[in-house]
Amino acid sequence: MSASHVIIGDGIAGSSAAETIREADADASVTVITDEGEALYNRILIKEFAKGKMPAGPISIHDEGWYEERDINLKLNTMVTRVDTDAHELHTHEGETIEYDSLLIATGGTPTQLPVDGSDAEGVHHFWTFQDARAIKEHAERAETGAVIGAGLLGIDLAAICGAQDVEANYLMRGNAWWRYALSEDGAEIIHNALRENGVTPVFGSGVDEFDVNDDGDVVGVTDPNGEYFDADFVGIAIGLNYNTEFLRGSGIERTDDGSIVVDEHMRTSADDVYAAGDLTYFYDVILEDQAQNGAWGSAKEQGSIAGTNMTFDQGLDTDEATFEWVSSYSITHFDFPFLSFGHPTLGDDDVEKKYGDDEWRRVAIKDGKVVGGVLIGNLAPQSKLKRLARDRVDVSDKKELLLEENIDLEKFEPVEAEQ
Ligand SMILES: Cc1cc2nc3c(=O)[nH]c(=O)nc-3n(C[C@H](O)[C@H](O)[C@H](O)COP(=O)(O)OP(=O)(O)OC[C@H]3O[C@@H](n4cnc5c(N)ncnc54)[C@H](O)[C@@H]3O)c2cc1C
Repeated sequence: MSASHVIIGDGIAGSSAAETIREADADASVTVITDEGEALYNRILIKEFAKGKMPAGPISIHDEGWYEERDINLKLNTMVTRVDTDAHELHTHEGETIEYDSLLIATGGTPTQLPVDGSDAEGVHHFWTFQDARAIKEHAERAETGAVIGAGLLGIDLAAICGAQDVEANYLMRGNAWWRYALSEDGAEIIHNALRENGVTPVFGSGVDEFDVNDDGDVVGVTDPNGEYFDADFVGIAIGLNYNTEFLRGSGIERTDDGSIVVDEHMRTSADDVYAAGDLTYFYDVILEDQAQNGAWGSAKEQGSIAGTNMTFDQGLDTDEATFEWVSSYSITHFDFPFLSFGHPTLGDDDVEKKYGDDEWRRVAIKDGKVVGGVLIGNLAPQSKLKRLARDRVDVSDKKELLLEENIDLEKFEPVEAEQ
């Protein structure tokens, strides 16, 4: 009898698993369940929509017909509320019970709320779904003043939306630099200047003590911990994700304290026939030789595909077991210069960095003598060589300065052979 595969989440991880399973096994039953009201769309482009730079059409990746053509059962607007790993079944908010032979959890995360007064006021936005993007766009088009909180990769999207929509915004950061765990002040200064050129003012040593909310329940301002007040009828918050795994309570599936799901390099969880993929995994990274996390589109897609392959492999299909071995990357396209981070730029016990010009900077993070990540601003040409050094776990400890050469010469890093 053919296997029954059930996937929770129709983000890029879940969707890519469904596609992989169907390609490997024409007879399997494949069900994809999502609590969203729309099928897979390009989450990384919703910021361009909110900026007013892109229409809604091209953001959709799959319409419902895509699933029908592949005989994949798509269940929209359906929230999974409980998983029973002993019985191999799950339950939905409508009281439906669905049995599985093999189950993938790809439910991603939900933005963390700021635990301060007024954070649920009208006009305070968190950013994850297309629905959020529609609300943000509509509001940003009429807002005059803004505040953005969260000095990371999603916060800068909210800042760029303010810039593009002519909202005069302050970007309130706790430390003295944007994404201070990955960039030094030298590198961050390039971003700060670009923000200013886009009409967004970085404010350091700041944050939020409370939101000022008017009698109609609309946010009108922010007071920071120094007592300084900023007008803001638009607020964007991006301070992290809560992983959507609460519904796994009591299932026996191992999770970390922050709720992410522990998986091996094959995307298998601690429970039989249960897999996880995407942002919510705490996976064994064979390159880092340690457990790690990634919050990036390409990585989630690859994990979904690895999980899909192994779900069919474990159900006895004649395929090869797949291993997740990936150096992720994440780019920012809001400014006149390109920006890319790769691997794990916030990890490591050592690093090298160099500024090459007003808008060009590079930093490479090193752990146990190996490249584990980095940030490139202005010139992305070295990315494939740096990723190659990371992937091949090349010892660079006595050649660190060569990582900063304009043109990295891989031949100087034996035993890596130059790419043909
Ligand atoms: C604004 C924005 C910009 C981004 N820009 C970039 C970028 O430039 N580059 C990059 O690499 N990455 C970017 N990312 C991150 C990237 O989008 C994510 O890493 C990726 O989408 C994660 O995919 P996923 O499938 O793991 O999870 P998600 O995309 O979060 O999908 C999970 C799905 O599961 C559903 N779900 C949750 N709980 C349940 C439940 N109980 N029952 C049913 N369904 C459930 C959710 O509603 C959601 O549809 C960006 C993200 C955002 C929000």
